[in-house]
Amino acid sequence: MGLFTSTPLPDPVGDFAPPVDEHPSKIAATLANLRHSADTRITHPRRFRVQQLRALEKMLEEHLDDFLAALNEDLGKGATEAKFSEVDVVRAEIDFALRHLAEWMDHTNVKVPLALQPAMAKVEPRPLGLVLIIGPWNYPLQLMLAPLVAAIAAGNAAVLKPSEIAPATSGALAKFLPLYLDNRVFAVIEGGVDTATELLAARWDHIFFTGGEKVAKVVAAAAAKHLTPTTLELGGKSPAVVDNQLPATAKRLAYAKFMNAGQTCVAPDYVLTIGDSAPLIERLGQTIHSFYGKDPLTHPDFGRIASHRHFQRLLDMFEQGEVVHGGQYDEQTLRIAPTIMRNVDLEGTLMQEEIFGPILPVIEVATFEEALEFIAARPTPLAAYLMSESPRLQSIFSDRVRAGAIVHNAPLAQMIVPSLPFGGVGASGMGSYHGKHGFDRLSQMRSELSKTTVVDTLSAIYPPYSWAKRKIIDRLL
Ligand code: NAD
Repeated sequence: MGLFTSTPLPDPVGDFAPPVDEHPSKIAATLANLRHSADTRITHPRRFRVQQLRALEKMLEEHLDDFLAALNEDLGKGATEAKFSEVDVVRAEIDFALRHLAEWMDHTNVKVPLALQPAMAKVEPRPLGLVLIIGPWNYPLQLMLAPLVAAIAAGNAAVLKPSEIAPATSGALAKFLPLYLDNRVFAVIEGGVDTATELLAARWDHIFFTGGEKVAKVVAAAAAKHLTPTTLELGGKSPAVVDNQLPATAKRLAYAKFMNAGQTCVAPDYVLTIGDSAPLIERLGQTIHSFYGKDPLTHPDFGRIASHRHFQRLLDMFEQGEVVHGGQYDEQTLRIAPTIMRNVDLEGTLMQEEIFGPILPVIEVATFEEALEFIAARPTPLAAYLMSESPRLQSIFSDRVRAGAIVHNAPLAQMIVPSLPFGGVGASGMGSYHGKHGFDRLSQMRSELSKTTVVDTLSAIYPPYSWAKRKIIDRLL
């Protein structure tokens, strides 16, 4: 264990054995089978979708302990946090979809202009076909299965490519999912970059990617070759502006930041306090102590860093400012204590990259306006948090700040409201899901128009165009 030094060491827990990449010919054969089955439309009927969603729920119920063990192995996640953030969130998505599926699948009749009447026009959500879902390592179960719920609900076939950096969870998905879902239309293909590259070269009807901006560009470029639509769920530096330094503010910030050891895409990345930050820093310190005790490095509710590479990257950030709380770490277990920093270098990786670890920089700004300018000068984040009881500030914040979500006083809570679209904008991604938003994202909103030929009410618009016909056409729409 050390304090503020960063010597690279062998990585006993982070030296994960990544899943073996599938042979390209095996991937091609699997995809050909899935495509063939998807084309037979077995995924379309509501009964099939309901059955598969229930089967997915059953898998989570019957293998809860296996998944919790895998998440603990991959990221040291405590059982309570892992169950809530990885399993219960998915079960809530399944239940919501099951309750609303009939209504989501229903068509909507729309009005037809007078000139076309009598006629019927409707919009009907139709399945897209075969969807590729590529996920990250930080919530390796949730971020595979929540998009899968949307894919199943929307009547699609799907391939899951879990992250190789969470190999135990990837393995558990590959082992258990085929025991529950229909293997003709759903498959888990494990592997790293080679497998992802192989998969991305194929033709898909949608690619749903969760991960970082750099890989998202690779995904978008591969998708462009087939003009495949994509959903890109990315990250970024989500700011938290603190106007009110009440004890609950510190608790909510610490909860959101240190869950999963800070490796959460919507964690508050940094804090901007309006004026003196000392009271907030003191309360954050007390909160961390009350959450994780005297020695967070051994606390069972505090997770570890994904790999030695990620661990080293975080340690380097300690050099980029003043550590005012925490700073301890343990190379053997890849744990870094919840850490608060101030007087940070705005040009270093700490403030230029998404931190993605348990380090919270606190920066003082003189005014609320300055906080808004600070945020606007940086890439668009996935979420922006305001801790304030002032309706005036809340209204200005939601009007002026551009982010995937605006949240007042409850960081992370937006994640578990299934009716809120979850997704980014600009650098934080494109497209959103959860609840009906996921269903819509993975459906085609198809137009359908029907008229009869028994009576030809359109004769007024056929050529040749006499003066009288032109007058009628001018008034048609
Ligand atoms: P990543 O982009 O490195 O990897 C994601 C996936 O892409 C993995 O399955 C990986 O195997 C694959 N991949 C990696 N390199 C590839 C390549 N060259 N070609 C094709 N595929 C490749 O992301 P990560 O490190 O696993 O996750 C961290 C990032 O994900 C953070 O930026 C975080 O904010 C973001 N994230 C976003 C959300 C969200 O919902 N918006 C959720 C969690 C994480």
